Amino acid sequence: MPIQQFDDDFENLPVQSTTKSAAAAAPAVSTKTHTQKPVENEEEETPKPKVSDDEDLATDFDDEKVYARTGQLNQCRPDKGKAARFAFIPKDWFAPQTAKNHFIETLDGKDVKKGRYRCLTPMGANAEPQFCCVAVDKDGDVEVVALVVRYTNADPVSGKYVKDAEGNWPPIEFEIQFVRLSQFNMRQIKKLPDEDSDPFKIDIVMTNAEGRAFGYEFNRKSNAPRWMGDQAKIDEVKAAAQKFIKDNGRKLRSKLGQKLNLTEWKALLSKRVGESKIENLEEL
Ligand SMILES: [Zn+2]
Repeated sequence: MPIQQFDDDFENLPVQSTTKSAAAAAPAVSTKTHTQKPVENEEEETPKPKVSDDEDLATDFDDEKVYARTGQLNQCRPDKGKAARFAFIPKDWFAPQTAKNHFIETLDGKDVKKGRYRCLTPMGANAEPQFCCVAVDKDGDVEVVALVVRYTNADPVSGKYVKDAEGNWPPIEFEIQFVRLSQFNMRQIKKLPDEDSDPFKIDIVMTNAEGRAFGYEFNRKSNAPRWMGDQAKIDEVKAAAQKFIKDNGRKLRSKLGQKLNLTEWKALLSKRVGESKIENLEEL
């Protein structure tokens, strides 16, 4: 009976003093009860208040919250014909992240699976092409992902905020999201601020590129990020951003594609059916 043996030795173990005194103060009972919950934890059952269910639970197919998942990092991008207004979070909170990726289609059972996978070739112009680039006969694409403050109550078409009848700006509503940028997008955004400013100090409106089947355009909407208007909002944004900053930005970094070693790359490419076209990458 090894367990009872343990209980017999209980008093001699270097346990916390509270436990010891409780055990000492306890009346002589069988060793069995020593291991059970103290009696004072068994609270009397209090009658539960009757919860009224008159909350407004109405929804619709445009209702964002139906599609949101708790803790999910959503992508900042406009729907067709709409605008997405955002500002980058300060880079000293968490810097934008970059890596090269390949977009590979593999056969997963009967289904074609599209994936974004981290290129093995280091970034930079002088890097020696590694296995993945050689095998698919294409360089990895540079991508940047960054945490942004997405303004969720700016005008959905113009990205503007308009004053109310009393001449006040509406308080901003926001969500921390991530934006995915190509090399081309980076160049576009770099040009937006004034000379003495930088892309972290402006509000940007992202729209679908006109005359092209895919891609986005970026325009400056304000010379100062609207969310930085007051300290309370800054604190609120900072608190909301923390869950994506922690763990070295794990959630954001995962948007740069799956990291594979050479063996894993070989296994992946053995199931390859093609390379995803950029037009089809929106869902990735
Ligand atoms: Zn590569």
